[in-house]
Amino acid sequence: MITKTAISNFQKLETPLFYYDMDLLRETLSLFKKLLDKYGIVGHYALKANANDRILKAVLDHGIGAECATGNEVSLAVASGFAPENVVFAGVAKTDKEIVTALKADIACFNCESIQEIQVIDELAGSLGKRARIAIRVNPNVDAHTHKYITTGLKENKFGISPWAFDEVLKVIKASKNIDFTGLHFHVGSQITDMSVFKELCIKVNVIENWFEEKGVNVKSIDLGGGLGVDYDDPDKHPVPTFEEYLKVIHDNLKVKPGQIVRVEPGRAVVAQCGYLITRATYVKNGMEKKFVILDAGMNNLIRPALYDAHHKVENITSDGKKSRYDVVGAVCESSDTFAANALVNETRRGDIFAIHSAGAYGQVMNMRYNQRDLAKAYYSDDFNK
Ligand SMILES: *Cc1c(COP(=O)(O)O)cnc(C)c1O
Repeated sequence: MITKTAISNFQKLETPLFYYDMDLLRETLSLFKKLLDKYGIVGHYALKANANDRILKAVLDHGIGAECATGNEVSLAVASGFAPENVVFAGVAKTDKEIVTALKADIACFNCESIQEIQVIDELAGSLGKRARIAIRVNPNVDAHTHKYITTGLKENKFGISPWAFDEVLKVIKASKNIDFTGLHFHVGSQITDMSVFKELCIKVNVIENWFEEKGVNVKSIDLGGGLGVDYDDPDKHPVPTFEEYLKVIHDNLKVKPGQIVRVEPGRAVVAQCGYLITRATYVKNGMEKKFVILDAGMNNLIRPALYDAHHKVENITSDGKKSRYDVVGAVCESSDTFAANALVNETRRGDIFAIHSAGAYGQVMNMRYNQRDLAKAYYSDDFNK
C-alpha cells in the first residue's frame, strides 16, 4: 500500500525510485511460513527475483531458505546469514568456479541440469576432498501455460534432464565417488496462476519418483521449484498470493513418503506485490490520435513489459482528475519501452507521480544503465514511517 506519508516523501525525492512496503512483505512471509509449517513443506526463496539486503533479511527472519541461480547468489545468501544447509543451487550453466564456491560453502544441494554437470561436480568435489549432495533437475514436459520466455519445463526447453536419460544418470551417479544423490528437482515456469499446472506436475513427479524407487534409489527429497504467480491486474485486491491453494494442491497430489523432504522455491510470489516503481510524468503529449504520458522511468528500470509483454498496473497517485486514456511510456528510445498502452489513468499533468505496481520481483534486480541512465534507488516503508 502507498500511504499519504509515502507520497509526501516521494515528492521530495528524485525519481524513478523503487519503493518497498515492508509490512506487506512481512505479512506475505508470515503467511507463507505458517502454511509451509502446516503442510510440512520447506520453503526456499529464489534470490534472483530480488536480492536487496533488506528483503533478504526479512526472508531470513521468517525462517525461509535460499534458492540460488549462480555462484554469486550462493555467496550472497551465505554472507547474508542463510545457513548453508538451507541453500540450494540450480542453473544450466554452473561454471567450475561457481561449483567450487558452492562446494566450499557446503550448501544443501546442487540441482543438476545435465549428466556432464554431475561428472564435473564429482570431479571438483574429489579435488577439494568434499562430498557434494546433488539432486537432478528433471524436465517433466509440463506446460506451465505462461509466457514462452518464462516456460522452462517443456521438452524443447534447455533446462533439466529428460526422463529418457535416467538410465545413464543412474550409471553416472553410481560411478561417482564424491557425490550423494538426494532426490529430484523440478521448476516448470514462472507466473503460473492455474493451479492445475501444479497438480499435473505432482502427478508426473509421483511417476518419476516411482521409477527411481523401483531401481532401488532412495529419493530423499523432492523440490517442486517456484513459479507461483501473482495478480498483476488487480494487485490491491490480491496483495498476498494464493499460498493456501498452491500448497494444498501439492499436499493433495504429491505422494510423500515418511521422512521425505518436500521443498518449494517461490521468488515472484514472495516479493512482487510489495514493490513499486515510483516515477514522475516528465511530459504529457497530445498525439494525433492518442495522448502520451512520458515517464522518467524506463525499460532499464523495469524491463518486464518490454521483455515479456508483461502488464503492470499503472496509477497516477497525485492527481484526482477525471480518468482519461493515455499511452504511458518509458523514457528510453525504444518503442517497446511502453508501460501501459491505452491505460485509463487520472488526468495527468507534468510532474505528477505514478506508481507502477507489482514491481518487487524481476524489477530492480534487472535495473541497468542502458543509455547511461542512473540506477533507481530503493526506499523502504520502515524508514518512511518513523
Ligand atoms: C527462477 C526460479 C525460481 C523462482 O521462480 P518464480 O517464478 O519467481 O517463483 C525457482 N527455482 C528455480 C530453479 C528458478 O530458476
